[in-house]
Amino acid sequence: MSDQNIKNLVILGGGTAGWMTASLMVKVLGKSLNITLVESDKIGTVGVGEATIPPIINFNQALGINERDFLKATRGTIKLGIQFENWLRQGDSYMHAFGSIGKNFPFCDFHHFWRRSRASGDESSLWDYSLNYQAAIHNKFAHLAQIKGTNLPGISYAYHFDAGLYAQYLRNYSESKGVGRIEGTVKSVQVRPQDGFVESLLLEDGQSVSGDLFVDCTGLAALLIEKTLGVGFEGWSQWLPCDRAMAVPSAGSKPIVPYTRSIAHAAGWQWRIPLQHRTGNGIVYSSRHWSDDEAREVLMKNLDGEALAEPRVIPFRTGRREKQWDRNVVSIGLSSGFLEPLESTSIHLIQSAATRLIKSFPHQGIKPEEVSEFNRQSQVEIERIRDFIILHYKLNERRDSEFWRECESMSIPQTLEHKIELFRRTGKVFRDYDDLFTEVAWQQVMIGQGIFPQDHHTIADNLSEEQLRDLMGSLRTLIDGTVKSLPDHEKFLASLN
Ligand code: FAD
Repeated sequence: MSDQNIKNLVILGGGTAGWMTASLMVKVLGKSLNITLVESDKIGTVGVGEATIPPIINFNQALGINERDFLKATRGTIKLGIQFENWLRQGDSYMHAFGSIGKNFPFCDFHHFWRRSRASGDESSLWDYSLNYQAAIHNKFAHLAQIKGTNLPGISYAYHFDAGLYAQYLRNYSESKGVGRIEGTVKSVQVRPQDGFVESLLLEDGQSVSGDLFVDCTGLAALLIEKTLGVGFEGWSQWLPCDRAMAVPSAGSKPIVPYTRSIAHAAGWQWRIPLQHRTGNGIVYSSRHWSDDEAREVLMKNLDGEALAEPRVIPFRTGRREKQWDRNVVSIGLSSGFLEPLESTSIHLIQSAATRLIKSFPHQGIKPEEVSEFNRQSQVEIERIRDFIILHYKLNERRDSEFWRECESMSIPQTLEHKIELFRRTGKVFRDYDDLFTEVAWQQVMIGQGIFPQDHHTIADNLSEEQLRDLMGSLRTLIDGTVKSLPDHEKFLASLN
């Protein structure tokens, strides 16, 4: 494809994708690469994307970021899971809590024991055995690697943060390590006539920025991968009906809860992301079922405190870029595709794409095998996440609006159909090698969305009735006691200062 050594990396775009990519690249490959980032103050960033999932901790560790500095600078809070309200039925709620549930036995997940216990009259909920859930609803948090005196895992967490402050934080980090920043708007892109490789970016002020490899982080504009190279987009609106969002910050309220809320409405759902200084609110909806005015009315009626700005409409397409890497352009962030923010996966996909690019970095020239492997892995990853998100819509029991009735009756990808039916019949769920979400995540959403499996694993029958009662009782006592001993989430936040 090209044997030209890669020495000059140009990242176009300075949103979350641009600065996350720049910071990881400079940290890991800064000695062998010149990195330049171009961003336009005139265009600005999408300005949303404030909830994350636990692998972000690894990202920060890879950069060597101090958590206290990070949370102070981004006005961040702790996230222990996502609470889904009104998703199964109106008035119903459950949480996708991070971390594990109960205690796993070799070859058999805990929920099989819970199912057996329930089938014989126990009324406890699966989430009574989730340390993360119990800590979340009691507004507690501390760093806890293990439950004291046991080998059971402790708390698993992620962050909420202010998107603008996050980009600024990573910008400071990247610039201090040698990333060059150019402020300007790209007017045109020069491509090599013989093979269509991008050669340089021409800015409105007349500057020209050339490079060997370009990372397209231009967000929904997809300036290089789509507008320049013409790489197509595979849309998934047949499964994910929402195509617009409206975002607005509000003053927030106390207590500052350590979880994201996702509240379903008649034609979409609303998020609430609690930060130290405000709450991020927004609504994601289907334009076939709701006008902007209808969405705005529902959003503004359900804010967490007084609105701090006018709501902003963000149209989007769900789907994936057909090739995330084409010629000498790699797209990362919204330019590479988008899954609505229901499970806070976009920032993770940035982290994972930047990591993948480092692992396959083409120092000695771009080889087609490397490009196709990168694209294959990216495709599998986003398709698994897609299935997990469709699951929430498909398994609803709401019959109060056309939107939810359509979601319930839609046909779904075969991969997902198989997973749901296997779980429904046997209680078993398996994590594919490339699946971001663990078995415990799938179990929670399937059970939360109304599946009580028809059977459990026979290993759960190895315990006598009494042993089973003891197991369930002792786990609850252990979890309740641990939660009681934890400090308040707000106390943890106050301790940052
Ligand atoms: P942007 O932030 O749009 O940045 C694009 C950059 O490109 C900007 O710097 C812009 O100036 C620059 N640019 C564009 N054109 C040009 C040009 N011609 N010349 C120069 N520069 C240019 N993800 C999560 O993980 N969690 C969430 O909770 C979450 N919530 C979301 C809610 C909504 C409604 C949406 C739409 C997305 C959400 N996301 C979430 C996704 C997340 O916001 C994005 O993945 C993340 O912000 C990355 O965006 P980006 O950097 O790709 O694009």
